[in-house]
Parts: sequence; C-alpha cells; structure tokens
Amino acid sequence: MPTSNLCQQQWVLGMNPYAGLVSCLHASWLTGKTRPMEYRVSQLEALGHFLDEKHQPILDALALDMHKPQFEAKLSETVLCKNELNYTLNNLRSWMKDEHVDKNMVTQLDMAFIRKDPYGVVLIIGPWNYPVNLLLVPLIGAIAAGNCVILKPSEISSCVERLMAEMLPSYLDRDCFAVVTGGIEKTTKLLENRFDYIFFTGSTSIGRIVMEAAAEHLTPLTLELGGKNPCYVADDCDLQSAANRLVWGRFFNAGQTCIAPDYVLCTLEMQEKLLPALHRAIADFYGANPQESPDFARIISDKQFQRVQSLMDSGHVAIGGQTDEKERYIAPTVLVDVPMSAPIMQEEIFGPILPIVTVANLEEAIDLINGQKQPLAVYVFSSNKKVVKQVLEQTSSGGFASNDTIIQTTLITLPFGGIGPSGLGKYHGKFSFDTFSHHRTCLMHRMDQEKLNTLCYPPYAQHNPQSLLSTSEIRCKSTCNLL
Ligand code: NAD
Repeated sequence: MPTSNLCQQQWVLGMNPYAGLVSCLHASWLTGKTRPMEYRVSQLEALGHFLDEKHQPILDALALDMHKPQFEAKLSETVLCKNELNYTLNNLRSWMKDEHVDKNMVTQLDMAFIRKDPYGVVLIIGPWNYPVNLLLVPLIGAIAAGNCVILKPSEISSCVERLMAEMLPSYLDRDCFAVVTGGIEKTTKLLENRFDYIFFTGSTSIGRIVMEAAAEHLTPLTLELGGKNPCYVADDCDLQSAANRLVWGRFFNAGQTCIAPDYVLCTLEMQEKLLPALHRAIADFYGANPQESPDFARIISDKQFQRVQSLMDSGHVAIGGQTDEKERYIAPTVLVDVPMSAPIMQEEIFGPILPIVTVANLEEAIDLINGQKQPLAVYVFSSNKKVVKQVLEQTSSGGFASNDTIIQTTLITLPFGGIGPSGLGKYHGKFSFDTFSHHRTCLMHRMDQEKLNTLCYPPYAQHNPQSLLSTSEIRCKSTCNLL
C-alpha cells in the first residue's frame, strides 16, 4: 500500500497498529476540510474517475475472485456504484440544507432547524460477495455527509481487496481516506479504536462482534447482515415468469447474494408444476451444462464450497446437484423433500441451491415465515393482489417484493436494510446521506426579549404557571375535532 504521507505512515507503529492512522484522520476531520460541499463533490468526482478509469481492472479482479460474469459485475457492482454516485451528486446540495421545523409559542421568534453534521471518522467494513458495491456505495454516503473514512474490504475477495488498497487511495485525499487490509486479527485490532460511526456489512455472527466492539466506545453503527429470505409461490401465479425470476435471483452471483430468495414455500401441487418450469429456466439461462456457461459464477473459497456442498444432503436433488471442487463449481440446484429441521433450513445458504418446502396453504406459509428469524427480504409470487397484500401485512422483513426477486435493490429511492437479526439501519441514496449524518438539534434563540424568558424562571408561583404550560402544549387533532 502506498505510504506517501503522515496519515499513511503512522498506522504501522505501536501496540495498537491503527491508532496513528485513526488519530491522523481525526485530526484531518477537525480541520473542517471535509465539510464544504465543494470538497465532498471533488472527492465524489474523484471516486467517479476511479470507477471509470479502473473499470476493466475491477471487472478482471471480480472475475479472478469468483468468476463473476461481466454482465452481473457491471449490473450489480459498477453500474450501481455509478448510479449511487450520480444520484448523490445531483441531490447533495438539497440534502445538505438545514431542515427548518415547526415551532411552539415560546420559540416563535427563533430559528429551529436540523443541521446534517458529519460524524467524524467512519469505519466501513465490507464483505466478499459484492466487494466493490458493498464497500463503495457506503463510502459515497460517508463522503457526501462530510466524513473521513477508513475502508476495510474483505480479505476473502483478495483480488478486489488488493485493487482497492493499491489503486483507490491515489484518487482520494489521503489525509481523509484510507484503505486498511487484513482478516480477523487485523480487523479486531482496528475495531479497538474509537470511531465516530461504523458501517458493517457481513454475517450476523460477525455483526454481533462488531456491535460489541462499537459498544465499548458507544459508537453508533449500521449493521447490514444476512438471513434466510423466504419466497412464497402461490398456485395462481404465472408459472414460467415466476420460475424465470426465481432462477435469476437465486443463481445470480452463484447464489451468493444476501437478498437472494433462500427457499421456496408452495403447495405440493405447485411444486410439481414449478419443477419443470425451474428446469426450463435453468437450461434457458445457463445451457445444458452450466459449468460451461460464461454467465454463471463460482463459489468464492474452498471453505465456502465445502459448506455449501454439504448442504446438498438436506433433501432430494430434483435439478442439478453436480459439483467440481477444483473450480469451486456447484451447479444450479433445486432440492425437494426438505424438512424444516434439515441443515439447509438452519443457516443462510449463500450458494446456488434452492430448497422447496411444501405447505398446505398461504396461512401455513405465513406461520412458517413468522416462526423464523426476521429476514432481509420476503418475496411472494401471485397474480392475486389480496395474496400479495396478506403476505406483506402479516410478515416482517427488511424489504419486500412481489412477483420478482433481488431487483428492489436497484431502486435508489428505497431504503436498503434489515430488521432484527438481518440488520440495523438503512442506506442507499438519501438514506445513506442521512445514515452518515448526525441530525443535530439547532435552536437559534434571541438574546433580547428577556421578559419572555423570565416567565420560565422560579419562583414559579409569581407567574400564571398553567397559562405558561399551555403555550408549549401540543393538542391531539382528533381530540380537538371531537370537541
Ligand atoms: P463476514 O461477516 O465473514 O465478513 C465481513 C467482514 O468482516 C469482512 O471484511 C471480514 O474481514 C470481517 N470480519 C470477519 N471476521 C471478523 C471478526 N471476528 N472481527 C471483525 N471483523 C471480522 O461476512 P462475509 O462472509 O464476507 O459475507 C457474507 C455475509 O454477509 C452473509 O451472511 C451475507 O448475508 C452478508 N451480507 C449482507 C449484506 C446486506 O446488505 N445485508 C450484503 C452482503 C452480504
């Protein structure tokens, strides 16, 4: 990693190897240089140049790490980053504006507003499955909000990690932005430092560790975690369209997507109709032998390969099932006869296997969903709006989509995040800007008019306390209407 200035040089010293780097970035933040809009815009534009000029190296690194197909890499990594960047640049001025609020009687002559303040030094920890998007999209929000940032890419997607460490710093202001590489040991050390905000994307178990580290310093944080996303397929849906959309969302990036449909819930009758449609979709998308398809990714690591492969025994293989350890290839696979107690139903699959769990009806599907931990996404396929509405209203999840899968993440105007074990907080577009901004309470009270103030001072009995209290009272509109 280039070490061209003080901030970059200090981080290797001492027992706490990152204390120097963090305090350097903190000192930069205190100078106020990241606050002006012009500075934020210049850094965002520089990030845009990085994405444009290093586009091919980025695609190459993604291909080396996990055979990520070019189209999938562009759609889910570089294009989404550019969209986030341009949307942020287009809206930053209005997002940064103070938000003036309604006032009560006592503060009528004052100015009351919310100032969007940067937090300070932010730590962003990314996962390996979308290693560009899930590192840079939060970075865009953090820069837009005026923060200094330390990026910690996943060590598992090692080619992207190297690219980020070697190429990104030369585009950004090194006094305010740094990339730190490493695995568990180094990240543990990094987390010993006090940050002003932590943004973590990864597994639920590591999220818990990061939250504990944040609690040590009472650091606010966002956790973008994982989970098992159910997909209910109703008997009335358009069969082949549902199968196509399911196959696309499940096998995109070889199933290594946090919002992928994790398992299908449907009736036994529907399963019999769905299987040939899924088979057809898989053959149409990836050909007779998906291993030869340029459009199907590989499992990221040997460890993940072993884990996903072992889940294959959780049911009867209806489609696929082939594996090739040398290539870390697992065919698009559909499992049937999967009991809820099977290992594949106990953990997030995060691979190209789609189990089908049969249920008697919609109500049983909803009960089953509500019996599990709250997922990142709930999906439903049905032509009946009542069915869609019932699933939406009777379940809880980070996000929801009907009649499609994973596509909701491309809508920058929607918040992205989990609930409960699938995460804490939200981002994308304006939600990112707000996540990385402290909403500071500001009241600009007048220095004159002291007489008004004296109404609040003791001894209270000298005023008319009841009339004073009523000046700040908020009445319930519905009660007023009734009166
Ligand atoms: P992970 O939790 O293993 O690792 C994520 C990051 O944490 C990496 O940078 C890693 O170096 C670091 N890390 C690992 N162990 C650590 C420790 N003990 N202390 C501190 N840091 C540590 O996750 P992963 O395997 O990279 O990614 C897969 C998981 O991420 C899945 O569960 C998936 O659902 C989830 N995910 C969630 C989202 C989302 O937006 N909600 C997006 C992508 C992935």
